[in-house]
Amino acid sequence: MITNTGIIAMSYILATILFILALGGLSNQETARRGNWYGIIGMTIALIATLMGVVTQHYEYVLVALVVGGTIGLIAARRVQMTQMPELVAILHSLVGAAAVAVGFANFMDPGRLSHYAGVELTIHDIETYLGVLIGAVTFSGSVIAFGKLSGRIGGKPLTLPGRHWLNLLLLLAAIWFGYQFVVQSVAGGGMQPLIIMTVIALLFGIHMVMAIGGADMPVVVSMLNSYSGWAASATGFMLGNDLLIVTGALVGSSGAILSYIMCRAMNRKFLAVIAGGFGTSEGTQAAGSEDQGEVVAILPDETAELLRDAKEVMIIPGYGMAVAQAQHVVHEITTVLREKGINVRFGIHPVAGRMPGHMNVLLAEAKVPYDIVFEMDEINDDFPDVDVSIVIGANDIVNPSALTDPDGPIGGMPVLECWEGKTTIVLKRSMATGYAGVQNPLFFLDNTRMLFGDAKETLDAVFKAL
Ligand code: NDP
Repeated sequence: MITNTGIIAMSYILATILFILALGGLSNQETARRGNWYGIIGMTIALIATLMGVVTQHYEYVLVALVVGGTIGLIAARRVQMTQMPELVAILHSLVGAAAVAVGFANFMDPGRLSHYAGVELTIHDIETYLGVLIGAVTFSGSVIAFGKLSGRIGGKPLTLPGRHWLNLLLLLAAIWFGYQFVVQSVAGGGMQPLIIMTVIALLFGIHMVMAIGGADMPVVVSMLNSYSGWAASATGFMLGNDLLIVTGALVGSSGAILSYIMCRAMNRKFLAVIAGGFGTSEGTQAAGSEDQGEVVAILPDETAELLRDAKEVMIIPGYGMAVAQAQHVVHEITTVLREKGINVRFGIHPVAGRMPGHMNVLLAEAKVPYDIVFEMDEINDDFPDVDVSIVIGANDIVNPSALTDPDGPIGGMPVLECWEGKTTIVLKRSMATGYAGVQNPLFFLDNTRMLFGDAKETLDAVFKAL
């Protein structure tokens, strides 16, 4: 054990600075790689300093835990497909929640607790423990349900129990009441019963909260649970008296909250309305009837290549299907060829395209698409009247005009990329199936839309050859 608390404090400060630099770096594609490194170095310093400073004996247990946990993490990270990333993030959040609950209970059962703390200090410590377990349990069960929904194991349809807002209120009041009981009983050496009852309540609350959220609002849930996991870690920091954990948790908690707010704004939704749930009444992807919407016009890869060759302005709109098909590399190749021909190619990125924040940016960066031709929706949405050809690659909800025309629909009010304002739109997808929100897309039936059916990677390979 390092007795020099000065070294540990310095290491914690250094790690904190590196975490802040990491967040700053991750806010921009060009600096994201550097940001990641700051995070990795910061976390390594934090781990070493904590191990040296806090662990006094039985290093072998910690080592075994590190090796087991590290191996599982390594295997999971290697195996996971890019399209499964959101599920992985959700299940990792659940681990943070579970850890907070475990630490809370361990802390409470610590025999030295009553000799260490007394009076007001004991009460404050108990409240920290109670809050840590509460937030941790909500994060745990909510994240497990989010994992189920994102991986398609649980349907996307929101569960709207009758009187669900009252039920939530009742659960909240019960949690407060048992909190009071816990603090009172703890002084007399008890308190385990109210703590267990509250844990069960919090687990139920987490399940109910995420079950009530419809498919179309899941992006916000992912970032919201990210925020909760931060607060759970922060609460654990208070319980353990670990400043670094408090600060790191607060960084994650507040950045997750800011991201949730940005996502809500991007989808034109109110945060409280999302949490209250019951929106986005979809059952996920399904084959929707096309007969009531008219006929679609199909197009072949050769014709697509011809249209592209004749264009001056091309807009590429990637969506979840590009991730599924892993088509980003051939997209880059096509972009290069077109630009060499003097055609202005740009990318329009919707804030909730794909299945996690920044999903498309990550894929395009991986394929080395230059950053300066990748634009946010707000930057290019007014430019579509001047666009000759828009290529929609495996995107559906984010280019659905009914978001604007049907305010009561599952995606009503969400701003979308208005590609139909351009001359021609080519939509690449395999069938007429709906997207994540489960709504049919009138874009496919417009006169200036052409459907290029097939796996996006295969059809784009054919387009590339034809070019
Ligand atoms: P969508 O889910 O709306 O549409 C994707 C489309 O891709 C589908 O219609 C599918 O059609 C097509 N597709 C799938 N695989 C392939 C393939 N191999 N080749 C070609 N096409 C394919 O995705 P969007 O990106 O347009 O919208 C994102 C949606 O996800 C929004 O509703 C958003 O709210 C939600 N969401 C977003 C999150 C985020 O953080 N970004 C998180 C969770 C949900 P077909 O089957 O016919 O091929």
